[in-house]
Amino acid sequence: MSILVTGGAGYVGSHTVAELLAHGEEVIVLDNLRTGHTGAVLASAFYQGDIRDEALLDQIFTNHDIEAVIHFAASSLVGESVQMPLKYYDNNVGSAQKLLAAMEKHGVKKIVFSSTAATYGEPKRVPIQEDDPTEPTSPYGETKLAIEKMLKWCDVAYGIKSVSLRYFNVAGAHPDGKIGEDHQPESHLIPIVLQVALGQREHIAIFGDDFPTEDGTCIRDYIHVMDLAQAHYLAVEHLRKGGATEVFNLGNGSGFSVKQVIEKAREVTGHPIPVKVAERRAGDPAILIASNEKAKRVLGWKPQHEDLGTIIESAWKWHSAHPNGYAGEGSEAK
Ligand code: UDP
Repeated sequence: MSILVTGGAGYVGSHTVAELLAHGEEVIVLDNLRTGHTGAVLASAFYQGDIRDEALLDQIFTNHDIEAVIHFAASSLVGESVQMPLKYYDNNVGSAQKLLAAMEKHGVKKIVFSSTAATYGEPKRVPIQEDDPTEPTSPYGETKLAIEKMLKWCDVAYGIKSVSLRYFNVAGAHPDGKIGEDHQPESHLIPIVLQVALGQREHIAIFGDDFPTEDGTCIRDYIHVMDLAQAHYLAVEHLRKGGATEVFNLGNGSGFSVKQVIEKAREVTGHPIPVKVAERRAGDPAILIASNEKAKRVLGWKPQHEDLGTIIESAWKWHSAHPNGYAGEGSEAK
């Protein structure tokens, strides 16, 4: 039996495929390569196409004996989602609806869903627990929350069991150096800081230093992509054991400010990494830190790379060996 991974050519998707393969799983990747990379496709069975293509989904579910789906494919830029909400409802909610319809038609009853801490919006308290209020401040967060709710009702109606994983700030790369983070354009803090260290940018713009935190910059909970990948494998195992539909936070439970991340990156790279303070970015909460007790307790999740320095070192290893991401690999970055 196989696991279908949508968005398996993307950052978290490709690292999860690597983890599944390491556990001896048979993996099929479906990705339209709009933001994913051919060089990041590790599965032997790969379909390039869109989830909204019903005929393609029928073909995949007919050709393969699919036990579970891990659904990553989505649009995931918070700022863009505010500008183009309908694109996000179509790409995210519309696609998930088509995928679930195909699962229902073909009798597939297990799905792991790539959700986000953006479902919470401005948190009422930290660390954030899974049953805290969800009031997203962007269409991106809204669409992910809408899918979580769709999943809940698909369990009630069709018995499709799901695990939604709310990621905090993902960083780092696979230890074998073959896959890593490559977004075009890049918007995340750690890769941008490392682009400064590589001489590709003059400085890092700090988006606001007047937040109500100790040094005035935003605090986030950074989690290593391989720890996240491990959680996806454990989520599949949870469903295999007959586990219930659940939502889990995935973070390390500790926070670092933007300035602390930059300081750590200076230590790791030996580069001075100049900074400039810029305006706040719309919708950035001051502090986001996960409570990860539930994932540890229910899934048996054991993060292996919790230290921020280790996470940045792992990202640095990838970025310094692949300064142009997958574009330098002879595989196109789309
Ligand atoms: N950030 C920043 N400069 C940048 C990119 C990000 O100051 O060029 C800040 C951002 O405001 C946030 C933190 O770094 O407080 C993490 O941002 P990122 O985009 O990596 O992840 P997010 O928290 O949005 O998921």
